[in-house]
Amino acid sequence: MEDQLTAVLQRVGLDLERILTRKRFLQWQAADRERLGRAANDPALTAGQARFVERLYDHLAEFAEASARLGPPASLERLKHSQLSYYQRLLSGPYDRDYVRDRLLVGLVHERAGIDLEWYLGAYRLYLGHMLEQLFGEDERSALFGSLLKIVFFDMILAIDTYVAAQRQALEDSEARLARALRGTEDGIWDWNVEYDRLYVSERWTQMLGLAPLGSGHSRDWFERVHPDDLPLLRDAIGRHLNGESASLAHEYRIRGGGDDYLWVLVRGVAERDGHGGWHLAGSQTDISARKAAEAGLRHAARHDALTGLANRLHLEELLQAVRRRPRGRDSALLFIDLDRFKLINDSLGHNAGDQVLVIVAQRLASCLRAGDHLARFGGDEFVALLGDLACAADAERVAQRMLVALRQPLQLGERTLSVSASIGIAPLMRDGQPLDALQAADLALYRAKLAGKDQFALYSDNLQVSATRQLELESALAQALAREEFVLHYQPVWAIDGARPRLVGTEALLRWRHDGELVAPAEFIAALEESREIVRVGEWVLRQACQQLRRWQEQGHAALHCAVNLSIRQLQQCDFCAMLNAVLEQTGAAPGSLVLEITETLLMQDSELLQRNLRHAAELGVRLALDDFGTGYSSLGYLRRFPLHILKVDRSFIAGAPRDADAVLLSRAIIGLGQSLGLQVIAEGVEHAEQLQFLREQGCDCAQGYFLARPLPVEELHELLGARGGSGH
Ligand code: C2E
Ligand code: MG
Ligand code: MG
Repeated sequence: MEDQLTAVLQRVGLDLERILTRKRFLQWQAADRERLGRAANDPALTAGQARFVERLYDHLAEFAEASARLGPPASLERLKHSQLSYYQRLLSGPYDRDYVRDRLLVGLVHERAGIDLEWYLGAYRLYLGHMLEQLFGEDERSALFGSLLKIVFFDMILAIDTYVAAQRQALEDSEARLARALRGTEDGIWDWNVEYDRLYVSERWTQMLGLAPLGSGHSRDWFERVHPDDLPLLRDAIGRHLNGESASLAHEYRIRGGGDDYLWVLVRGVAERDGHGGWHLAGSQTDISARKAAEAGLRHAARHDALTGLANRLHLEELLQAVRRRPRGRDSALLFIDLDRFKLINDSLGHNAGDQVLVIVAQRLASCLRAGDHLARFGGDEFVALLGDLACAADAERVAQRMLVALRQPLQLGERTLSVSASIGIAPLMRDGQPLDALQAADLALYRAKLAGKDQFALYSDNLQVSATRQLELESALAQALAREEFVLHYQPVWAIDGARPRLVGTEALLRWRHDGELVAPAEFIAALEESREIVRVGEWVLRQACQQLRRWQEQGHAALHCAVNLSIRQLQQCDFCAMLNAVLEQTGAAPGSLVLEITETLLMQDSELLQRNLRHAAELGVRLALDDFGTGYSSLGYLRRFPLHILKVDRSFIAGAPRDADAVLLSRAIIGLGQSLGLQVIAEGVEHAEQLQFLREQGCDCAQGYFLARPLPVEELHELLGARGGSGH
């Protein structure tokens, strides 16, 4: 009641000046106060007032509506008593602040009790009428004044009716507008009287959370639903706003709905001080869960690889930091994993197949890790595993070994079975208590694993840094090797083995690089040449060299000696390959029939229009085509018929085991049979022992090459061999 009265006082806005103005307009003067004061001491008058109170209540009793509000007899007596003391005070005053306050309080009580203004004011008319009678008796003039009083009061009540009705109308209009707006908005509305902890929330506010309407309640109805992790920050945001540190409240947090699920919401609000300094906070609450989900999706997408779903490079960096921040004690390591020959899969089977392989590889790698380890796709065919909690450093090697084994399992891609392997570099995250650039270190180790023959892991060591620098130097030197005429061809003899003794029928031109006084083998530099596409120019140089040599041999009388040249896929991807081949043959004068071009299986799987055209063109010139390293790639037998092939070269890995290993025997026998049944000449590669040669002979293999027969030789040394064997054997 007390605070309501304060609010009413505030609203009525009766400051001292207003009261004075009002009194002036009513022509209230000191004389009035004195006159009334004197009357208050007139016993006849006060006795009359007491009589009037009785009359008043009798009169009210005649009106059912009014008397219904008066209550039981006991409270009626109390009412009469306070009514009488009011009339007493009306005469005696003082008409000070307290007087005004009491009047407002009485008005409030009447309004609360539901007593309409017409009864309330009507009672004043009765009082004045009674006083008129008592003071002047019943003559014609006081009767007239009494009538005037009645009609004036009638009008006064009518005037108040219109004012109130108009104000109520305005209020209702504004409430209706607010209600419409509230219905229309998606937001929930809330209003919190902080001081008395009364919280009002709109229907939408509760509906948003799947709750029954609450209407009014307390702040705990709100705060107990807030996610425990978010509550301190929400309270903090509210506190800062109330302290004036923020212009308004705007805070995102999670709130529990009817079930156990949390909803992301944005609360907005502003605080206002009410009349006596208490805080009032009100605002809206918006459901932002859709936006939060979208943001989370974006955040995830930015930090993960779309193909494999693994962490990407960006996220890997964060994970690395996190692992490094962990308390010391346990060992940690980083594994840099790179697929071997993945480019070939991509180039020959297409990017779709490549993608599928990457997904399967990611799954296999992940299956080798424990919870708490992390796997990221670093890019292309590179993966990084973070092992943050190892009992000892050797555990990282165990994980790497598991990965190698998992990857070696045959991989089924539609009808195709592929074999995939990877090389892995391992580096610790910390070295002597200091953080190490583990990515770079593991990358170096990976490089060593590749150099050592791939499909294995290698550990980082400090001197790797030295050899990496050397490799860099090698690569830059390679770029200038052609211009500096550092390349040279060696020729490995190819022998027909169908007779009693092997006959030298041809050679294979093999590239060597003279660098720093050493002769570097192709395994060390072909990949780099391919990478830089320099292989196209170097390949043309090889072809030209070999054809010149062919021409020379022909001039020396070895007319039937053929020469094989290895081609890179990049050369065959050139539009001007045909023109280049024509020009070389023409300029060197070599017989096309003596030239053999060797291509690898993976190249055939590209099966592009351009490739077909280039190979057909060569075949039409009379150049023969050999399929090199047969059995190591992914080709299907269908390709063997689609391309104009003449020669099949059985990869030395099949020959290596023969004739001791039963599987090797079976496979090489099958491949030789296959080549022959397709009408192809079969050449076995890598013959290193007499018994292998014997075995191949027995299988009816046409030709062979290998260290047992002759190593690749510089051209001068080959001349001795040609001379000794009497040239091309017929
Ligand atoms: P490839 O075409 O299969 O050549 C045969 C490889 O086997 C040669 O290695 C040769 O030295 C080696 N080899 C021959 N007989 C034996 C043997 O009995 N035992 C063993 N273990 N190895 C034997 P090289 O010269 O190191 O060449 C390696 C590969 O580099 C070649 O394999 C070929 O694919 C590529 N290559 C060589 N020269 C060129 C070239 O001019 N252009 C292109 N694009 N590639 C080339
Ligand atoms: Mg070859
Ligand atoms: Mg080969």
